[in-house]
Amino acid sequence: MPLRVAVVGAGFSGAVVARELAEAGHVIEVYESRDHVAGNCHTVRHDIGVMVHVYGPHIFHTQHERVWEYVQRFATFKPYRHRVRAMVGEKAYQMPMNLGLINAFFGKKFTPKEAEAFVASQADSTITDPKSFEEQGLRLVGRRLYEAFFAGYTRKQWGVDPKELPASILARLPLRFTDDDSYFNHPHQGIPEHGYTALVEAILDHPRITVHLSTRIPRARLAEFDHAFWSGPIDAYFNFEHGRLAYRTLDFKPEVVEGDFQGCPVVNYCDAQVPYTRITEHKHFAPWESHDKSVIYREYSRLCEEADTPYYPVRLVQEKEQLLKYVQLARKEKGVTFLGRLGTYRYLDMDVTIHEALNVADTAKSSIAQGKSIPAFVTDPLG
Ligand code: UDP
Repeated sequence: MPLRVAVVGAGFSGAVVARELAEAGHVIEVYESRDHVAGNCHTVRHDIGVMVHVYGPHIFHTQHERVWEYVQRFATFKPYRHRVRAMVGEKAYQMPMNLGLINAFFGKKFTPKEAEAFVASQADSTITDPKSFEEQGLRLVGRRLYEAFFAGYTRKQWGVDPKELPASILARLPLRFTDDDSYFNHPHQGIPEHGYTALVEAILDHPRITVHLSTRIPRARLAEFDHAFWSGPIDAYFNFEHGRLAYRTLDFKPEVVEGDFQGCPVVNYCDAQVPYTRITEHKHFAPWESHDKSVIYREYSRLCEEADTPYYPVRLVQEKEQLLKYVQLARKEKGVTFLGRLGTYRYLDMDVTIHEALNVADTAKSSIAQGKSIPAFVTDPLG
C-alpha cells in the first residue's frame, strides 16, 4: 500500500527523501516556505550571465561513492578544484595552510620536512586533548599562525571568542607540508554545470512528487499524512517552546565589476579589523564559462534574528542543552522524522546531508516493509 508522505523543506535533505520514497511507490507532497528549491545551495544566473551562489559559496566534495554516483544521476558535474587565498595585512597567502603559506609568512625557504619540524616547534605540545577551537589551533600550528589566520576570522565568523568554540570547526581545514593548495582532500569534487537549483529540481522531478513553493504547512496538517519528514528548523516545529536555537546568518553586499576582481573564487580576510569575512567572485566557480564582467559578494556574518535566514548552527553549551530538550520532544512525537542541517541543528556539508538523507530513506523503506514506525532521527543530533 503506498503511503501519503509530507516532506517539509526542499533542500537536499527533503529532495532526496522525497525522490527515494517516490521511487519506492509512495506519494509525496513537498512543502517549501521559500519561493525556490535547493535551500541555501540555491543558484541563480545573474543578468550579466554569471551563475551566482545566492547564499554563499557551495562546492561539492565527497568521499562517499554512493553520494557521488547519486548526484551524477541528476546533473553533469564539471571538474572543479576549490582554491582560496587568505589576506593577512596587505599580503595574500595560499589557504589552507601549506608549504607556500608557511614559507611566505615566515620569510623562509623550508623544504617540506623542515616546515613540518618548524611548525611542530611552534605548536603547543602541552595541549594533548584540545577542547576548544583555540586549543586545537595552538596545538596544531602554534600562536603566530593561529593569531594571524584563525583567531580574527573565527571571531568575525562566529561572533564569540574561539575559546568557546568546539575544536571540530578547525578540524574541517587540512594542514599540509606540500604546495598542494586544493581546499578539500576528498577524491570527488565538482560543481553542477547548470547550478544546484537545477540539480535539486531534477531530483524532485518525479510523477509522484508535488512541490508546493512559498508554502508553510501548519504542523496540525501533517497529521493528515501517513508520515512526515521535517527538514525545517527543529525548534520551529515545536513553536520555539524551549527558545530559539542560535544560528549565524550572513549578509552579502553584491557588486558588479569589469573583468576579473581577484583571480580566484574566494579570498578570506583574516584580520579582525576588516568587517567582512570573505569576498566571493562567483564566475570562478564555473571556469568552463567565460564572462567579461564579474559579480562579487562581500560576506558579513552576524547573529541570526527572527526574520533572517539561518546558516550556521552555533551549538555551544547552552544551545546543546536546548537541543537536548527539543530532541526529547521529537522522540516522543509520532509519525515525524527530523533530518538535515536545520532538522538536526548540525553544521553539515552538502554531501553529508545527502548521505544522511539516503540513510533516512533506507531506514524508512525498511521500517515500512517491516510494519514498524519510522524513527524520529536516523543520525543522533547530539552525537
Ligand atoms: N577559518 C579561519 N580562517 C580561514 C578559514 C577558515 O579561521 O581563513 C575557520 C573559521 O572558524 C571557519 C572554519 O575555519 O568557520 C571552517 O572554515 P570553512 O572554510 O570550512 O567554512 P565554510 O566555508 O563552511 O564557512
